[in-house]
Amino acid sequence: MARIGFIGLGNMGGPMARNLLAKGHEVAVFDLSEAALVAAETAGARRAESALAATEGTDVVLTMLPAGAHVEAVYLASTDQRCLLDQLAPGTLLLDCSTIAAETARSLAQAAAARGLIMLDAPVSGGVGGAEAGTLTFMVGGDGDALERARPVLEAMGKNIFHAGPAGAGQVAKMCNNMLLAVLMSGTAEALALGVREGLDPAVLSDIMKQSSGGNWALNGYNPYPGVMDGVPAARGYEGGFLVDLMLKDLGLALDAAARLGQSTPLGSLARSLYTLHKQGNSTATQDVGRLDFSSIQQLFLAPPA
Ligand code: NAD
Repeated sequence: MARIGFIGLGNMGGPMARNLLAKGHEVAVFDLSEAALVAAETAGARRAESALAATEGTDVVLTMLPAGAHVEAVYLASTDQRCLLDQLAPGTLLLDCSTIAAETARSLAQAAAARGLIMLDAPVSGGVGGAEAGTLTFMVGGDGDALERARPVLEAMGKNIFHAGPAGAGQVAKMCNNMLLAVLMSGTAEALALGVREGLDPAVLSDIMKQSSGGNWALNGYNPYPGVMDGVPAARGYEGGFLVDLMLKDLGLALDAAARLGQSTPLGSLARSLYTLHKQGNSTATQDVGRLDFSSIQQLFLAPPA
């Protein structure tokens, strides 16, 4: 069993850490949120008061943080002129499961290798439901032998583990997947709103489309229309899940890469405009739509006609 230092216990990291504990791994945790630390401690983790303290004596470090800036801050920010990477034992395996830019993942892997550490980018798909059920898909970039070393840890949290290629390749796969997901979720919400305006029951329409050529992951397992499916964010006011702000971040990663490569991504661009409109147009003084699940894009299409 591995000794794991786990940093970032949010919507995804919390249940992922619980699954590692359930499979018998030793887990020390750190997060900026007191509530997240208490929940992990209750599940059997050793609570630490800093990232460094969580990683002392561990052979694997796992990060599940919002964005690249947070991951760089955890690994590279210096205290007394030494960053976390400087203080880990050579040979430590670093698994960054956050969704960040492929270039950031590559430069972190290089910084780690320069210190005798091994780093893999291992972003995930499957949502909070997949994190809770231990059925995530991992898209791994980096050395194949290091992936074999990481496999028992990843298998405690997921059921599909892909080696996408060298460092950064996992992040490229994740960026492409999430651009497609934004397009599918927006299209699903648009189709459901049209059908309902024409008088159809959204549950009946969903059942029909699920068995027809419009079926897709968003419709089949993450229905955005309130009242159609139990256990999804739409059934609880779009609380929890995968935040609109995180989807906007991921669309930014995809569109930045497309701009750099001169690659046309018209549907990705449109999806980002729709999510931006949704956040700007539907946020109020008391509600930041950026903090809602990304399936709340349904609200954009249900707005009353002017
Ligand atoms: P989240 O915002 O719920 O959790 C992030 C956690 O990181 C928070 O608990 C926060 O307190 C903690 N944190 C931030 N900075 C920190 C620091 N310096 N030190 C310690 N802890 C710190 O985010 P999430 O939904 O769990 O997503 C995490 C990552 O996984 C993101 O990159 C996201 O894009 C990706 N992802 C999310 C989902 C999803 O469905 N939520 C699915 C796939 C991938």
